Amino acid sequence: METPIALWWIRRDLRLHDNQALAEAMRLARTVIPVFVLDPALLSSASQSRRRTQFLFASLACLDRDLRSRGSKLIVRSGTPVEVLERLACEVGARWVVAEADYSPYALRRDRAVAQRVDLRLCPGLTLQDPRELRAPSGRPYTVFTAFARSWWQRPAPQLDAVIPPPARLPPVEDVSSERIVAELDAFPVHVFPPGEAEARARLDAFVSGSDPPIFRYASERNRLDGAGSSRLSPYLRFGMVSVREAWCRASQLLERAPDEASRAGVRAWLNELVWREFYITLLYSFPRMVRESLRPEYREIEWDDAGDALAAWYRGQTGYPAVDAAMRQLAAEGWISNRARMLVASFLVKDLLLDWRLGERWFFQQLIDGDPAANSGGWQWSAGTGTDAAPYFRVFNPTKQGERYDPGGRWVRKWVPELCHVPDEFIHRPWAMPRAVQERCGCRIGREYPSPIVDHAVARQRAIARYRAARSAATDR
Ligand SMILES: Cc1cc2nc3c(=O)[nH]c(=O)nc-3n(C[C@H](O)[C@H](O)[C@H](O)COP(=O)(O)OP(=O)(O)OC[C@H]3O[C@@H](n4cnc5c(N)ncnc54)[C@H](O)[C@@H]3O)c2cc1C
Repeated sequence: METPIALWWIRRDLRLHDNQALAEAMRLARTVIPVFVLDPALLSSASQSRRRTQFLFASLACLDRDLRSRGSKLIVRSGTPVEVLERLACEVGARWVVAEADYSPYALRRDRAVAQRVDLRLCPGLTLQDPRELRAPSGRPYTVFTAFARSWWQRPAPQLDAVIPPPARLPPVEDVSSERIVAELDAFPVHVFPPGEAEARARLDAFVSGSDPPIFRYASERNRLDGAGSSRLSPYLRFGMVSVREAWCRASQLLERAPDEASRAGVRAWLNELVWREFYITLLYSFPRMVRESLRPEYREIEWDDAGDALAAWYRGQTGYPAVDAAMRQLAAEGWISNRARMLVASFLVKDLLLDWRLGERWFFQQLIDGDPAANSGGWQWSAGTGTDAAPYFRVFNPTKQGERYDPGGRWVRKWVPELCHVPDEFIHRPWAMPRAVQERCGCRIGREYPSPIVDHAVARQRAIARYRAARSAATDR
C-alpha cells in the first residue's frame, strides 16, 4: 500500500511549536512535505514591503534549518497557489493539503480557489477564537471592542496543556525539488528583529519569565514612545513564528503568580492587546472593505486636503514636531514603532494635516515589518475616528504634550532626531520656543538645522474638528 502523503502548506505559521496544521498533517499522513508558495499576487503587490518580504525570507531560511535538524526540509515553489499546490500534490502523490486558516479577504479567496482543486484541510492557530463564530446575539458582527471583548472572555480560555510540543523528528522529504531563496539581510533591521522561531521564543521567554518579568510592568510602561515597555513580538506574531495560543497561556499563567495588583494589571493589559488583535482580524473578516473605506459611513465624504509638501514632510520626519519626526524616522529606519508612536503620527497626519488616513495606512503597510491588513487598517481607522470603535473625532493628540509625557527628557527624540541632540530638556519637545541665543548655543537654529512646525497644532485642531463636523452634518442631511 502507498504511504499517505500530506503537504503542510505554510503561510503565516512559520513555526514548529504548537502548530495545529502541522500536527493535523502528521496525524493524517506518514509523510509530510512542508511547502511555502512564493505567491506573485502577494510579493509583487503595490503595498508590499521589501523589508517585510526579506524578513519573511530570512525566517523561512531559519525554518528550513529547523526542519533539516529534524530530518525534513522546506520546499519552496513560485507561482499561484492553486497551480503550485495542484502540481506538487500530483507530483508527489499527496492526498491532502493542510494549512492554518487565515481570514483576510485575499486569503479567503485564495483558499476557496485552492479547495476546488485539492483536498484542503484548514486548522485553527492564527487566532485564539474562530472569527467566524464571534458574533453578537443578533447574529451580526461585533463592531465595538468592549462588547466583543466581553463575549470573547466568556468563551473557554485556551489551556497550556493543549499547546503542542514540536515534533522531535519529521519524515524525510526525498526527490522533491525546491527553489532557493536567499534573503537580503541588509533589507531589514536584522539587529533589531532577528528572523526565526528561536528568536520569537526567546523574546516571549524574556517577556514572561523570571521572578520579575517585564510583563508585570506592562500597564505602566507600555506607552513609552521608545517602545521599551512592550514585548516587540508583533513581527513574530504577524508571521506566526510564535503561537498566539502559547503566548496567551504563558502570560495568563502569571496571573496567579503575580505578586501584586499592579503586576496582575500588567498581565491583564497585555492579554487585552491580544484580544485587540483578534478584534481587528474578526472585523476585517466581517468588513473586508475596511482596508479601503471608512467603517463609519458619515466619514466617507470628509474633505481631505491635497497631499503635497505636508505629506512629504510627514514621510521624512520633517514636520517640526520632535515626537512625530522621531517616530517617522524610526519607522523608516527600523520598520517598527511603538503603539503610542503609531497613534501619535496617525493622529497628526489625519487631524493636524487633514490628509486622508489611507495615505498613512499605505505608508505604514510599506514600512512596517509587522504590517498586517487587519491591525493596520484597524489602527488607522481608530486613529482617524472613522472606525466603528474609534477615538471620537474631537480627540486630537497634542504632539508636544504626548512627547513630554511619554518621552520625558527626550532621550528617544534625541536618538532619532540628532539635530536636537543638544537642545535643553525644557525645549526638547517644543524647540521652536527656544530663544534665539539658546538656539545658537545648542547648534540648532529653527528653520535652519531643524524645521519650524509645518502647522500650528491649536489652529489645526480646530480646523479638523470643523471638517469632521461638516462631514457629519452633510451625512445627516443626505
Ligand atoms: C495606526 C496604527 C497602525 C498599526 N498597524 C499595525 C500593524 O500593521 N501590525 C500590527 O501587528 N500591529 C499594528 N498596530 C497595533 C500595535 O501598534 C502593534 O501591534 C504594537 O505596537 C506592536 O508592538 P509589540 O509587539 O511590542 O506589542 P505589545 O504591546 O507587546 O502587544 C502584544 C501583541 O498584541 C498585538 N497588539 C498590540 N496592540 C494591538 C492593537 N492595537 N491592535 C492589534 N493588535 C495589537 C500585537 O500582535 C502585539 O505584538 C497598529 C496600531 C496603530 C495605532
